[in-house]
Amino acid sequence: MDKSKVFRVEREKKIVERMIRLYCRKKEGNKTLCPTCAELLEYARARLEHCPFGEDKTSCKHCPVHCYSAKMRERIRRVMRFSGPRMLLYSPRAALEHLFRK
Ligand SMILES: [Zn+2]
Repeated sequence: MDKSKVFRVEREKKIVERMIRLYCRKKEGNKTLCPTCAELLEYARARLEHCPFGEDKTSCKHCPVHCYSAKMRERIRRVMRFSGPRMLLYSPRAALEHLFRK
């Protein structure tokens, strides 16, 4: 793995983590990450590391490899729907970086 990919994957992981934490806190009202969200976070991290597209990865929405299982895909989708717009308030830079790469 080259450095820029490592860097991007790390950044992507941080964004996903923020989104999941935001969802758990604001939407579910948990003070700390609940087991369900922790599981989702672990899952999302593992998927990012194993994404076969590396540099050419555009966005998971267009990804032909449906690497998320149906159950996890539904969960992450819910998180994105909730946290996506809110990231602009809580973490505008990360959100914008995320949007521009799509
Ligand atoms: Zn949760």
